[in-house]
Amino acid sequence: MRKETIVENLNGVGERIVTCCNNCARSPAEITLLAVSKTQPAEVLRIAYEAGQRHFGENYLQEALQKQDRLAELDICWHFIGPLQSNKTRAVAEHFQWVHSVDRLKIAQRLSRQRPDALPPLNICLQVNIDGEQSKSGIVPEALAALAQSVVQLPGLRLRGLMAIPVARRDPAQQRRPFVELARLLQALRAQFPQTPLDTLSMGMSADMEAAIACGATIVRIGTDIFGARNYSV
Ligand SMILES: *Cc1c(COP(=O)(O)O)cnc(C)c1O
Repeated sequence: MRKETIVENLNGVGERIVTCCNNCARSPAEITLLAVSKTQPAEVLRIAYEAGQRHFGENYLQEALQKQDRLAELDICWHFIGPLQSNKTRAVAEHFQWVHSVDRLKIAQRLSRQRPDALPPLNICLQVNIDGEQSKSGIVPEALAALAQSVVQLPGLRLRGLMAIPVARRDPAQQRRPFVELARLLQALRAQFPQTPLDTLSMGMSADMEAAIACGATIVRIGTDIFGARNYSV
């Protein structure tokens, strides 16, 4: 994709966020735009960085580490948003500032133990299987309170909030339902842990960003609408 197009797309998404916030009486300052850069080469991330983008989300560890290496001099905040297996936790704990996809205690314990002492605690969102899909990542809502109870005690982690990837729906009213539910689950966690500042709802992608913001999203994860359709064959 041309450099000009990426910059235009970034600006366009930024304008959509402002418009959407105006429509739902929120401040754009409450929303962090996470540019989801999986499958995009390092040079594409550099273009977005030069246009002011600072938060980047990656799904595949090896691919992400290579890009981090090539962009080491840039002041990027790296978010890991993909499925996370045990054998990948050490590198994630060492090389990312955020993980959005924690859905098991074992993974959380490893991330905490492997987080280097020299770094601040790793920011964590618990991923919720909000539509109850079989064979989908995420913890079921019924088990969330118990997982959170264990995770808040891990010294290497800082529990920040919740993340979800709902089923794709076209109708905005339908899109809002799982987001309202995730926001409700975060409220319940806040009541459970009044001492923990739980400030993050990571929800909303290219096709449902507006619905997510209307329901309280604080991080929107946008790939396609910034970088174009992904080509997984390269
Ligand atoms: C790929 C991905 C996104 C971005 O999706 P788009 O529809 O391209 O905006 C957001 N979140 C997660 C977890 C992803 O894997």
